[in-house]
Amino acid sequence: MHAKPYVGRFAPTPSGHLHFGSLLAALASYLDARHHAGRWLVRIEDLDQPRNLPGATDHILSTLEAYGLGWDGEILHQSHNLERYNQVLNALIERDQAYYCDCSRKLVADHGGIYPGYCRARHLPAASSHAIRVRVPDEQIGLRDRLQGVFSQNLATEVGDFVVRRRDGIIAYQLAVVVDDIDQGITDIVRGADLLDSTPRQLWLYRLLNAHPPSYLHIPLIMRRQGEKLSKRLASAPITTGDASNTLFRALAALAQQPPAVLRNAPVSEQLAWGTAHWQPQRLPAVQQLLEDSLPPT
Ligand code: GLU
Repeated sequence: MHAKPYVGRFAPTPSGHLHFGSLLAALASYLDARHHAGRWLVRIEDLDQPRNLPGATDHILSTLEAYGLGWDGEILHQSHNLERYNQVLNALIERDQAYYCDCSRKLVADHGGIYPGYCRARHLPAASSHAIRVRVPDEQIGLRDRLQGVFSQNLATEVGDFVVRRRDGIIAYQLAVVVDDIDQGITDIVRGADLLDSTPRQLWLYRLLNAHPPSYLHIPLIMRRQGEKLSKRLASAPITTGDASNTLFRALAALAQQPPAVLRNAPVSEQLAWGTAHWQPQRLPAVQQLLEDSLPPT
C-alpha cells in the first residue's frame, strides 16, 4: 500500500496536560503505525511559548510511557528548530510565494476572517514586526481522507492568504507542521478531525515546497455536548496513570475497536498488542464529531 516505509507521528502542543481526547489521537496514530509495521515519532509543538504550560511536556511524555506508547528515535522540539523554519520562510519570500504584511487583526476580522490581500502587491521590506503570509490560489485543494472521504476548500475564497509567521514573530503551526512532517519523512498522519480544516492549507505548502503529501486519517473528536471539545483547553482533568489499563481499554472502545472484555484489566502492553493486530479505523464513524454519550458503554 505504501511506496515508502510507513512513518507516523503524534505531535502534541504542550499548552496543557494530556487528556482523553489527546490520548485518542496518540493511540490511533500509534496503532495505525504499528499495524503497518511502521515507525512512530513524537514531536513537541511548543512554538507558541506564551501558551506553553510549564511541566506539560514532561507530563505528556511520562503519560505516553505509562500507557506503553513508546516512540522511535529522538523527540523533536519545535522550539529548537527555528533556524529551519526561518530558512523555509526566506525561500518562500524569495520566490514571491509569501510576503510581509502589516495589516491589523481587526482588518482581517472586518473581512469575515478572510484576508483581503492588501499587502499582496505592496512588497513591504523585511521587518520583524510584520507578519508573513503565503499567497493562495483560487482553486479547490482537496484530499481523500482515509475516514472522512473527500474534503476540499478554495483557499482564496474560504481562507485567504494565510499567516506563516505571526506579527509577534512566532512561527505559525501551519508552516512548522509541514516543514517537520516533510523533514521527518512522515508518510501517514492520523490526528483529530479539528485539523481537517487546516489540511488544504498544509497541502498547498507541500506543493510550494515541492514535497509529496502524506496520507491522512482524521478521527472524530469526542465532544461533551454539541460544540464542547474534550480537549486540554477545557479545564477537564488530565488523564492519570494510576488506572492506565482501564483508561486504555476505554480509549480502544472509544475508537470503536470493540476490545474483548477480558482485556479490560490486562497490562497495557497486551492491550496494545491486541489493538495493533486488530486495528480497523474504518470502524469509526465517518464524522468529525461524536458526542461522549454516544460512545459504547464500557
Ligand atoms: N500540535 C497540534 C495539536 O496539538 C497537532 C498537530 C498535528 O497533528 O498536525 O493540536
